Amino acid sequence: MTSKQTPPLGDSTLAVRSGFDRSSMMEHAEPIVTTSSFVFNSAAEAAARFSGESQGMTYSRFSNPTVQVFEKRLAALEQMANSIATASGMAAINLLFMGTMRAGEHIVCTRNMFGSTVNQIKNILPRFGIEVSWANSFSPDEWASLITEKTRYLYLETPTNPLTEVADINALADVAHAAGVKLVVDNCFCTPALQKPTQFGADIVIHSATKYLDGQGRCVGGAVVGSDDLIEELTSYMRSVGPCMSPFNAWVFLKGLETLSLRMHQHSRNAMVLASWLETHADVARVHYPGLNSHPQHALANAQQKAGGGILSFDLKGGKEAAWQLIDHTKLCSITANLGDSRTTITHNATTTHGRISAEDRKASGVTDGLVRLSVGLEDVEDIQRDLEQALSAG
Ligand SMILES: *Cc1c(COP(=O)(O)O)cnc(C)c1O
Repeated sequence: MTSKQTPPLGDSTLAVRSGFDRSSMMEHAEPIVTTSSFVFNSAAEAAARFSGESQGMTYSRFSNPTVQVFEKRLAALEQMANSIATASGMAAINLLFMGTMRAGEHIVCTRNMFGSTVNQIKNILPRFGIEVSWANSFSPDEWASLITEKTRYLYLETPTNPLTEVADINALADVAHAAGVKLVVDNCFCTPALQKPTQFGADIVIHSATKYLDGQGRCVGGAVVGSDDLIEELTSYMRSVGPCMSPFNAWVFLKGLETLSLRMHQHSRNAMVLASWLETHADVARVHYPGLNSHPQHALANAQQKAGGGILSFDLKGGKEAAWQLIDHTKLCSITANLGDSRTTITHNATTTHGRISAEDRKASGVTDGLVRLSVGLEDVEDIQRDLEQALSAG
């Protein structure tokens, strides 16, 4: 940002201007600085840079100007001190755990999370002595009962995928802080445009930038957002381990952030129209969307989120057969397990994202055979509705 602007600035202003200092060329848009390393004017300057005595870039594995603009801008939007960008969302999650935890320490988390997150926590972390307890609900009492003296983090996503259950961030932050533990929220579904977990007491935010931060299905990336001390600790780990974001990807995500708020509100408006319509459809047993009055945590979602977001799911009365029929008859919606794209995507979770989970566990988690998830895109909502309507009646 140039010195002409003075804080506090609104989100839309931060999204297009924050984190950027022009070079002597006075460029208007952020440049992509594609260089692996940086040069110094003297041996003494090199030594000072490497020891951390003087600020500045040294090597793009842990410092790059384009990546840094993205890191500062994302942190500004989350109203947190700083962030560190990573090669993917999964790398961000791994960076937090491996970069800060020791063997013998423990986390509490929910099973209702992105599949690869569950796999990493369940299958990888225990190999390094990190222990895990799983909560079956968002009940603060249950989470409190699972905390031990070794617990470092409570970890969750809200709203959950694909049933859009909403966790009470405030209540769980109180549970965490009473025990001297930090609350981590994966804010991928809402993004800071709709929900700022730190306003409700969360200490650390995780992002898969691959989803809505880009929002156009172009790049894979992620970030951890938190305090200056945390980011310093993670930067030191990044320096030795290296799951960094490329400058090109950072630039794509910067362009994504510029339109993030506009897109998230339009995704939400489109999703609300479709959720309300689906609720009245004869073939649909139930619609899961935080924006609906019928959602069990509608009031909590209203308090925490500016809008319902772009993800909804619904149960078809006809089970798996009806779900596959619908999916196969769509002409506009893309059949993919991805989400957070400008194009509407449609997914049968029981046989894709949740396909490797036992039928029993799937049932317990509410992912029925008739469940269909929509990541509602930015097309004209009438066109998406017409596509679903003809596909539902084509069966
Ligand atoms: C996709 C996703 C991730 C992982 O992000 P990648 O960029 O694909 O590695 C983590 N959390 C949530 C909620 C996701 O949807």
